[in-house]
Amino acid sequence: MEKRISMLIVGGGTAGWMAANLLAHRLRDSNVDITVVESDAIATVGVGEGSTPYLKNFFRTLDIPESEWMPACQATYKCGIRFPNWCKTPGFESYFHPFFSPLDREVGAEFFQLADRCRMGEPASALPDHFFHAPYLADAAMSPIPQRPLPFELDYAYHFDAGLLGTFLKKKAITRGVQHRIETVSDVVVEGGEIKCLNTESRCQLIADFYIDCTGFRSQLLSALPGYCFRDYSPTLFNNAAVTLQQPRDYAKPLVSATESAALTNGWMWRIPLQQRTGFGYVYSADFISEDEAERELRAVTGASSEQECRHLKMRIGRVEEHWSGNCLGIGLSQGFIEPLEATALMLVQFTLECFIGKFVPACSSGAQAVELQEGFNKRINRMFDGVLEYVAGHYVLNSRTDSEYWRAAREDAVRPAFLAELLSRWDSRGDFSEFLAAHGEGQIYSRASWYCLLAGMGRFPCHELPIPQVTRELIQDVSTFCRGNIGRFRPHEEQLARFPG
Ligand SMILES: Cc1cc2nc3c(=O)[nH]c(=O)nc-3n(C[C@H](O)[C@H](O)[C@H](O)COP(=O)(O)OP(=O)(O)OC[C@H]3O[C@@H](n4cnc5c(N)ncnc54)[C@H](O)[C@@H]3O)c2cc1C
Repeated sequence: MEKRISMLIVGGGTAGWMAANLLAHRLRDSNVDITVVESDAIATVGVGEGSTPYLKNFFRTLDIPESEWMPACQATYKCGIRFPNWCKTPGFESYFHPFFSPLDREVGAEFFQLADRCRMGEPASALPDHFFHAPYLADAAMSPIPQRPLPFELDYAYHFDAGLLGTFLKKKAITRGVQHRIETVSDVVVEGGEIKCLNTESRCQLIADFYIDCTGFRSQLLSALPGYCFRDYSPTLFNNAAVTLQQPRDYAKPLVSATESAALTNGWMWRIPLQQRTGFGYVYSADFISEDEAERELRAVTGASSEQECRHLKMRIGRVEEHWSGNCLGIGLSQGFIEPLEATALMLVQFTLECFIGKFVPACSSGAQAVELQEGFNKRINRMFDGVLEYVAGHYVLNSRTDSEYWRAAREDAVRPAFLAELLSRWDSRGDFSEFLAAHGEGQIYSRASWYCLLAGMGRFPCHELPIPQVTRELIQDVSTFCRGNIGRFRPHEEQLARFPG
């Protein structure tokens, strides 16, 4: 009889339960038994309420429709992210980062051309907000769901309640045969570069063939393995703390379908609209502002009363060098974290899991090759993390705020990843930027559209005062009329959510 393989996931946060569901689904025809162990003494991080479009694939893979999971998690649609106050250049005080969709192909092509002309110092105008459907939908509180599908499909992501999502995924995993135990792991026993067993506070011993570390920032399993190495991103990204609060939804206002990431004096604040509440979080650097000051600023900006509770969190920014080490894989905060400016953490969870599943089964059956598979895997996941780092770092390098030492240092003193430095020099030197991006396409997380939106949205152009020719004004007007004309083909956000069974 074929030997069964036991997999032990330690940690019952979003990462642990996402791992349990995907592994149970993808390995359902293999001889793998999955158990999740979580501590009742150590809380989950309890934040993380925005996604990238990649999360759609997660639920599609698991065959869980939006009509089931979205109401259960108070979820809303997200057409993109608006970035107010990062830039002081007139005309660029705010810009929108949309998810690029086939529907945007033609209007997007106009945007790329105009941005290139601005880059060359020609009189033109290229703020992303004018050229994509998403900002128009978000401004009008529409959902990205068309009344009739093709050719009006738009890419989109979600906002959700992190706690409710964890509970939902836990129930799903258990129904799909995942075992669940409450234990707090006290020691990780390592032998010959592999985990031999885990000891728990209740004096149990947990033994498995393979371990998945979902213990959050503690990284309890991975960090016990020899050769553990953490690549600290803090010289590039200064933010290492956050303070959050929630407010009940103001039903007098329409339900917005975008995240807002507004720059504040020493960091930025997210505003995430859920069905019944709005989540706010000030992500800042504790080297520049104290906890109390950050909380005061957050309360002032949101108009929160003194009774409204704030939560303070610390963030460890960086990644491990080996996400898969010996018989252990790190998933979620245990493998690394890049501050949540682009809400990428769950996408990295998903990507790591999918990539791992593709390698794990062959690795099990081919001893010698396993090390190579593991090395290739780690390299790929590292590239993915570094790709996100480069894009997120771009926002700080491009800021033009002068109101605090934090923003000056973020622009001038932060260590620039080599790829970002080269990319900026290509953009500034007026060479073929699209060609440069295409040549580095492999391993890039962010598309040409995202890089153009960031650079053009932050006004990285040599001249800003040139009069815009009439023909360009007319072109922008035409694009705007076209996008606005299509808005009516989508459903209002509120109405779309109300269609789900209660
Ligand atoms: C301020 C902030 C904002 C964020 N915003 C976003 C966002 O917008 N979008 C996004 O995708 N992500 C975001 N994230 C990241 C997101 O919150 C996490 O990626 C996600 O929640 C997964 O966390 P986790 O499961 O890895 O860790 P955790 O939620 O910390 O869970 C850890 C689990 O491990 C268990 N555990 C720990 N130690 C032991 C032990 N010794 N024995 C047994 N069990 C143990 C705990 O009980 C818990 O169940 C944000 C994070 C922060 C800090």
